[in-house]
Formats: sequence, C-alpha cells, structure tokens
Amino acid sequence: MTTATTRAAREFRGSHTDGRSPEELREIVSHWGAELELAPAEVIIEWAAATFGERFCITSSMGDAVLAHLAEKVVPGVDVVFLDTGYHFVETIGTRDAVQATMNVNLISITPVQTVAEQDAEHGPELYKRDPDLCCALRKVKPLADSLARYDAWATGLRRAETHNRVIAPVIGWDAKKQKVKVSPIARWSDEQVERYIAENGVLVNPLVYDGYPSIGCAPCTRRVAPGEDPRSGRWAGTNKTECGIHS
Ligand code: SF4
Repeated sequence: MTTATTRAAREFRGSHTDGRSPEELREIVSHWGAELELAPAEVIIEWAAATFGERFCITSSMGDAVLAHLAEKVVPGVDVVFLDTGYHFVETIGTRDAVQATMNVNLISITPVQTVAEQDAEHGPELYKRDPDLCCALRKVKPLADSLARYDAWATGLRRAETHNRVIAPVIGWDAKKQKVKVSPIARWSDEQVERYIAENGVLVNPLVYDGYPSIGCAPCTRRVAPGEDPRSGRWAGTNKTECGIHS
C-alpha cells in the first residue's frame, strides 16, 4: 500500500451509514480519482470500503471470483451483488453457490420483478430474441439500479483490456445515470494478470471459461468463441448489441 493511498483510506475511515448527496459523491470522485488511478486493486477496494462503509458493494457476474477474492481480503463480509436474471447457465449458478459457501462475503442475489414465466406472459416468449434491450432493461438494468439504491458506491470487474468500448473505464468514476460512484479496481489488469492471480490464489472460476466462454452472460445470449476471437464476440452474437446497459 502506498503512503498516499494509506492516508486516503485513513482520512475517510469511519462510519458513513447515511447516504451522501450526488454533489458530495462527485466531489469524492474528482478528489481521489487521479490519486488512486495507479493504486493496487486491494488499496482501491480498501479506500472504497473506508470511504463508503456499508454503502459500498461489489458486483459479480460469476465469470470468476477475482474481484470477490480481492475484496474479502481487505473487507471481510463485503456485500457481493449478483444479478440472477433467470436465464443463467447452471455453471454460473453453481459458481455463485460456491462463492457463497466458501468465501467470506455476503452474497446477495437480486432477481427481476417478474419471473421468466411472468415476463413471457406479458411480453411473449423469448423476448431476448425480439427485443434484447427491453429484456436486459427488465432483467438486469432495473434490478441492479433498484438494488444499488442502498449504496453510494459499487465496484465492478470491468477491465479496459476486455473490449475497446471499455477503454475509458476509470478506476474511480462517476456513474451519472445511477448517481453513484463506480469503482473498477482491476480496470488496468491485463488478461495475463487475471490468469496469474487466479492461479496463484486458487480463485473460483466458472467452468465455462475453460470451455470456450471467456465472457459469460445469460445462456440464450452467449455462445462459444473460437480461440483468438474477441472474447466478447460471443455475447449477443449476430446483433449490434455489445453491452446490457448496466455500464452505459
Ligand atoms: S442477456 Fe439476453 S436473456 Fe439476459 S437479460 Fe439480456 S436479453 Fe435477456
């Protein structure tokens, strides 16, 4: 941990159980964003936990448990939010269950307002084929926004190396749509860094990653990719859609 970032964490340490205003949160982003840009992932998470207390969570799509593993070391019992869309691969649900059973985190599974059957009844079956943006809005974007209401800051596993669209993902950023601080502790990590961290720490990984699915979303909207292909080309393949809307 660097001296500067240790000081940053100490200056904000304390209980912050009440939410801050958007202006206060934006001020935190502008004050600390540059200083933490090059900090190690653990330091960034420690700073976020010290700054936001119980109003900080991490999110995970259960492709792997790298972010949860980093977080449990410095914030034991940290809230880990998982969006259970009702369309996940069984391997993804299994990874979530393994994280819950073996890690020192508070796993929170969020479900949409409607079950898949209820959505089918209202919008017709296989909405993801006809209107994936609406399906994602109903099953991902709104449930996440609702669940984040109790937090001031959320951490994601976004990495700039994943797609060109994510090149600008800041380590500490302002999520204007959600009016939250968005923390991406491993934004600067390369694929090799992720693989090394997993190997050295025995981190849980969704078995589909080793079966041709480097990027894993809902089963109907995710296909295998060939070696050398863009890892995210298997998401919503054959459409112009590249993101679910959570990060826009
Ligand atoms: S990824 Fe596909 S199935 Fe999942 S919410 Fe989006 S459109 Fe629906």
